[in-house]
Amino acid sequence: MSDRYCVLGNPVGHSKSPLIHHAFAVQCRQPMSYQAILAPIDGFADSVRRFVAEGGRGANVTVPFKEQAFQLANRLSSRATVAGAVNTLLFDGDAMVGDNTDGAGLLRDLTLNLAFPLAGRRVLLLGAGGAARGVVAPLLDEGPAALVIANRSAARAEDLARHFATTATVVGGDYQALAGESFDLVINATSASLAGELPPLPPGIFAAGSLAYDMMYGDGARPFLALADRQGAARLADGLGMLVEQAAEAFHLWRGVRPDSAPVIAMLRGVVPDPAARR
Ligand code: NDP
Repeated sequence: MSDRYCVLGNPVGHSKSPLIHHAFAVQCRQPMSYQAILAPIDGFADSVRRFVAEGGRGANVTVPFKEQAFQLANRLSSRATVAGAVNTLLFDGDAMVGDNTDGAGLLRDLTLNLAFPLAGRRVLLLGAGGAARGVVAPLLDEGPAALVIANRSAARAEDLARHFATTATVVGGDYQALAGESFDLVINATSASLAGELPPLPPGIFAAGSLAYDMMYGDGARPFLALADRQGAARLADGLGMLVEQAAEAFHLWRGVRPDSAPVIAMLRGVVPDPAARR
């Protein structure tokens, strides 16, 4: 009998995780199945317990349950503790281990797939929600010259920066405070595009040779990347690589083998439009 895994979310129908993990399982010859489960908004914990009772071995967790998964896990990895959110659960006897692979996924996409080293670079992170929180520590580990966090609610960005301010490298604030500054890497970790809006970036933010990266992928990333293109970013990338890399990290945790993400990114690119392709 094959081992069972799932992704829990609400909504979850749009999730590419079943496609990704099925491809990993075939590639790595792992006897496992993976399904999407729509958990009721007020019934996340019950859905997890039911899945475990049915023999589930692990789960991915997506919007809006990452904080609830953090509360539910009875053991946490250090990166989940730092992020305050869990996107991967591993069920092992009575242990429900919570991990967060979003930061590792972003870093692998930036440094390996996009060959963009961060040491000594000036990095701007837009947004201070769950996704932003999960990537601050891994970004700082790469040794950037500066990490500035800008958010619509400035207090959230300031809190986030303060939380990680073991060095003077990280500061937080609002968008107005960015006037006159420029960055080598600008990461959009806001969900502004969902509301048909854009983070209000002052002109001159993109330094020569800079990379604009949107954690959203496909058409969802198009508005921000078009703005970055107009404002002079040299390179554009959406979050499809991050999506596959965070899944690869979860797969490694569950199965002990690391899949090759490149063919899976290429396969998904066949069904997800590339907003970074310049017209
Ligand atoms: P949250 O809801 O936790 O945070 C949303 C963030 O966006 C907040 O900082 C919020 O600011 C900001 N925001 C929302 N609307 C606007 C707006 N109109 N103008 C400016 N800022 C706005 O979401 P997450 O952090 O979980 O996710 C953020 C994005 O990252 C999503 O699009 C998600 O799809 C993507 N993501 C991609 C992943 C991948 O693997 N590619 C993995 C994880 C996330 P405020 O605090 O002021 O409300």
